[in-house]
Amino acid sequence: QLRDGEAIRRQLHNTYQELKGNIRVFCRVRPVTSSVSASQNETATASVAYPGAEGREIELANATETVTKSSAATTYPFTFDRVFEPSSTQEAVFSEISQLVQSALDGYNVCIFAYGQTGSGKTHTMEGPLNATAESMGMIPRSVQQIYESSKALKDKGWSYQIEGQYVEIYNETVNDLLGNNGLGGGKKHEIRHGKNGKTTITDITTVVLTSPEKVAILLKKAAQNRSVGSTQMNERSSRSHSVFTLRLTGKNSITDESHEGVLNLIDLAGSERLSQSGATGDRLKETQAINRSLSALGDVIAAIANPEPNTFVPYRNSKLTYLLQNSLGGNSKTLMFVNVSPLKSNFNETLCSLRFAAKVNSCTIGTATKRIVPK
Ligand code: ADP
Ligand code: MG
Repeated sequence: QLRDGEAIRRQLHNTYQELKGNIRVFCRVRPVTSSVSASQNETATASVAYPGAEGREIELANATETVTKSSAATTYPFTFDRVFEPSSTQEAVFSEISQLVQSALDGYNVCIFAYGQTGSGKTHTMEGPLNATAESMGMIPRSVQQIYESSKALKDKGWSYQIEGQYVEIYNETVNDLLGNNGLGGGKKHEIRHGKNGKTTITDITTVVLTSPEKVAILLKKAAQNRSVGSTQMNERSSRSHSVFTLRLTGKNSITDESHEGVLNLIDLAGSERLSQSGATGDRLKETQAINRSLSALGDVIAAIANPEPNTFVPYRNSKLTYLLQNSLGGNSKTLMFVNVSPLKSNFNETLCSLRFAAKVNSCTIGTATKRIVPK
């Protein structure tokens, strides 16, 4: 009987997912690390709670209010497709995206974004720490490993795959090669081209054939090195740029003569903290405007692709990021957004902003589904 209950729950969940279409939103709350609380002189009080038993709800408490016995703090509840608490392991997070990763092997185009303020755990989620262990590895190396293992298993059925990787940064609306040998912006200008076959290429960019999953760790180190050259602090640079890791999977079947190409994009977005333009001048002002504009362009593109009206105009060209990802956003593509947040009271305002942005992305996808099933 328990089993029936579980089956019904799963069925309901699947129906819900189908209705939602191809966009998912996962929330991940980072733990309070001792280094963070010490360096910020922070009393590590959390402002989040997880009221639901389903792992889909998060409740933020207003940290600016004084709570007395007679008045509880205002709370802001949110529901996402999944909420990962601070104790969630990289493995647990990956297990919820592995199907999506797998669909790139079946020929789908997939985008997985990490959105959130600087320090909220975007890079930890996507790359994991440098010199990661098997446990702490992030989504990029885990994806490569899974794709590599699955492609080996598919050999018996006649499939052979070529796995190619690229890693670029978009900084101030300019594409830089994170795997280049001459540092960033080493004199080369990279143009984004969309071919008639729906294939996106970047001119003069380094493409690495990933023959073994171990190779990806070398690539991540190289990217980190490139990012640290010419900027005072690596973290500063990466928090002000978007990085896009792209795996192109070309499969050919020698028995059935089928072939297909899937693309998996893993995107570590620039820090979403509200950057005030007042006070910023020169390069900083330019950076700030570029980040603000491109993050809102991403929100606009997602809202447009979720719009059920046929022939809705999708403003891909409003930023380099959305233009680069044009063929992997919308249509048959699948999109997942992680909203990474900090549980600290001192981050309350930014956390609320991030959750609201994510809720907007989430609700526009539900809106689509509801409209689609209303018969005309
Ligand atoms: P962001 O890329 O969003 O600026 P980071 O991924 O660099 O943030 O995370 C900030 C700090 O918090 C790093 O030291 C990182 O190792 C740590 N951290 C973030 N998320 C986790 C987590 N889930 N588990 C352990 N440490 C984490
Ligand atoms: Mg980062």
